[in-house]
Amino acid sequence: MSLFLYNTATRQKEAFVPQGDLVKIYVCGITAYDYCHIGHARSAVIFDVLVRYLREQGYKVHFIRNFTDIDDKIINRALKEDRDWHEVGQTYMQAFHEDMDRLGVLRADEEPKATEFIEQIQSLCQKLIDAGKAYATPSGDVYFRVHSYPAYGQLSQQSLDDMRAGASARVGLNPEKEDALDFALWKAAKAGEPNFPSPWGPGRPGWHIECSAMTMPWIPLDIHGGGQDLIFPHHENEKAQTEACLNTTLARLWMHNGFVQINSEKMSKSLGNYKTIRDILESFLPETLRFFLLGKHYRSPIDFSFADMEEAERGERRIYQTILDVQKYRANPPKLVDLPKEQAETLRGEWQEISKRYAEAMNDDVNTAQALGVIFSLVRHVNRLLEEKKLRKSQVVWELLGQFLEAVELWRQHLGLFSLSPEDFFAQLKALRITRNKVDVQRVEELLNQRRQARAAKDFARSDSLRNELESLGVIVQDTPEGQKWDLA
Ligand SMILES: [Zn+2]
Repeated sequence: MSLFLYNTATRQKEAFVPQGDLVKIYVCGITAYDYCHIGHARSAVIFDVLVRYLREQGYKVHFIRNFTDIDDKIINRALKEDRDWHEVGQTYMQAFHEDMDRLGVLRADEEPKATEFIEQIQSLCQKLIDAGKAYATPSGDVYFRVHSYPAYGQLSQQSLDDMRAGASARVGLNPEKEDALDFALWKAAKAGEPNFPSPWGPGRPGWHIECSAMTMPWIPLDIHGGGQDLIFPHHENEKAQTEACLNTTLARLWMHNGFVQINSEKMSKSLGNYKTIRDILESFLPETLRFFLLGKHYRSPIDFSFADMEEAERGERRIYQTILDVQKYRANPPKLVDLPKEQAETLRGEWQEISKRYAEAMNDDVNTAQALGVIFSLVRHVNRLLEEKKLRKSQVVWELLGQFLEAVELWRQHLGLFSLSPEDFFAQLKALRITRNKVDVQRVEELLNQRRQARAAKDFARSDSLRNELESLGVIVQDTPEGQKWDLA
């Protein structure tokens, strides 16, 4: 069964056939001027799953994700806060790593930074100028000559006229540009801006050119990825620069993830509904955010709301509970009996049928939403096997539930989920929910103490009324041989 991936360039799913021993993947990273929001988390998580999945399938993968560490946004932030622009970049690159580590996103094999590629960027500009595909202006800018690259617009499937109208409307007409569509490879520095010496005067790279310089040693890439918002102009321009310069393909397959919306609205700072990863992780476990993001196919838009995060959390709890139940079952083997052969075969058949659907989902354009659906089916199936006494004690169910734990391990490798022990998961979740629901723990302890005394005095009416009072605080009490245990409803 082979993996099919949707290629933005052809608008169809294609069988993934790497061209050599090494699968080369490049994903455009962040501009380091602020904390990452959930749109960044989505892109990072989905490409992390892709890389994990390919590696587990036996491919050797070289994964590159860049940092844009010089840009208008970084410079503006540095000016506004009276800081060094290097330091601003450093701060947010470090924050990126902290956030992504928490989300279980593996580090890339290579993390090039724009400022480390100035020489390569300049040599690329010079090659394009020499070939007549770019030009320097009297002000010291260098522009790419879009009409020198006939395939321009193919990736984003737009006509040159539409793009030209859009470009004129967006940036207005620059008299130094031959064509409104031409875009900057190199920008002359304005007074006081950071700059690098160049044959065209002091300046700094345009945004798109850094990716062309960074991918140069690895082309053609097997997969080039990023968020949908990068298709145009960023990826269209990257492709034009590289392919015009080298007459070769930049990437064989282009993958783009969909947008994140908040409560059905576009997420933006001006709407005040902007959510950073850090905001969300104050109220939810990192794995829950991952679980939520993987709950939708990566190409669909995803709508973030606290209610949907709570729903994801409930789903995760169901799965962790089943993992815990199976671990306990496997730790204390019952006396096993054989079921009639036919019944055992049926159980094995059902198991294989469900398990097969997981692989089908992952191979169908990394459909994690469907894969999670299969995991829930398997969990329901496992719960039935555990509940029925006769099945529980059978040799075949014993074996199947051993396979269940192996499957959990596989999901952990592919999806980066279920990486905690169930005990840790439930403990961390309880602590988080106490804060989130603003539970007064001291008051809860007081009521539990009074209830213990009431029960010791056999005053069950009082004990019941205390239980009700605890419930009104969102707390559920369980009486166990070790005494009262409580959790949040
Ligand atoms: Zn890029």
